[in-house]
Amino acid sequence: MNFVKINLWTWKNGTQFIWESLNEHLKNPARLNSTIEKVVRKDGKVYVTVNGEVEEYDKIIVTSPLYVPCKENRDDGLIGMVDYFDARTDEKKLFSQIEYERYDVLAVETKPQDHPEISYYVFDNMIPKRLGHLMVYYRRWRDTVDQVITTYALRKHKKMEEIPYEKCRARVLRDLETMGNPASNVVNEWSVYYFPHVFTNAYRDGWYDKVEAMQGKYDTYYAGEIMSFGDMDETCEYSRELVERFF
Ligand SMILES: Cc1cc2nc3c(=O)[nH]c(=O)nc-3n(C[C@H](O)[C@H](O)[C@H](O)COP(=O)(O)OP(=O)(O)OC[C@H]3O[C@@H](n4cnc5c(N)ncnc54)[C@H](O)[C@@H]3O)c2cc1C
Repeated sequence: MNFVKINLWTWKNGTQFIWESLNEHLKNPARLNSTIEKVVRKDGKVYVTVNGEVEEYDKIIVTSPLYVPCKENRDDGLIGMVDYFDARTDEKKLFSQIEYERYDVLAVETKPQDHPEISYYVFDNMIPKRLGHLMVYYRRWRDTVDQVITTYALRKHKKMEEIPYEKCRARVLRDLETMGNPASNVVNEWSVYYFPHVFTNAYRDGWYDKVEAMQGKYDTYYAGEIMSFGDMDETCEYSRELVERFF
């Protein structure tokens, strides 16, 4: 959260570069473009159907979304683990309590003289009443004006109705005008699954203790953002700790 203090760190070659470099050093590099369609766990083995072929493993670690509520509202077809695994009753019961952020990102061009110095935080919009409004925007490099700025907004809060994508997009563009940074062009846009989490009642009921107690139960381990926090640092830290604990 240090970025809220305007202490924003960006990586010279982007964060994708970190993972591509890491991948080059792995004994078993990540296999890309591999959609897992089905997982069956039986007789101490895990059968994974990936790109139409069935492969056999001893264990599986899940880092993709465990559950995607209101998946019919998503255009990208993203589904949760409970939809393509032979999910057990306890998995379904616990994971169906997961919510996530509908995080909308626009990359826009504005007049260079209107650029934020580096990043702007619109605190007045970070309240439920202002859901779907521009919350954060920033530019990536301090020392050049030849770049897009990126805007961030959320479309769902607890029981409040989900704001449709187009409505949120229009609001953000209007907010940019209000902020004195009107966008002349939208270069790219992305509505993304972000920050899976559970609410206070689930915490109080020991959601994390219960899921931790299930680690390995079905030759399956659960990692990724939901088990740690919504950033790369803590997600990686959790995965590393999980592997040290069980493998
Ligand atoms: C817009 C945005 C900005 C962010 N900015 C920052 C930042 O500045 N700093 C920071 O530290 N963090 C940032 N984050 C958070 C960070 O990206 C996440 O915390 C991190 O990527 C979570 O890692 P993960 O492995 O849990 O999930 P992901 O990185 O989402 O990986 C899950 C993967 O599973 C794949 N998948 C899903 N279903 C299947 C399937 N059936 N078969 C095969 N693969 C599947 C997905 O394609 C995806 O690649 C940002 C996130 C977003 C969305």
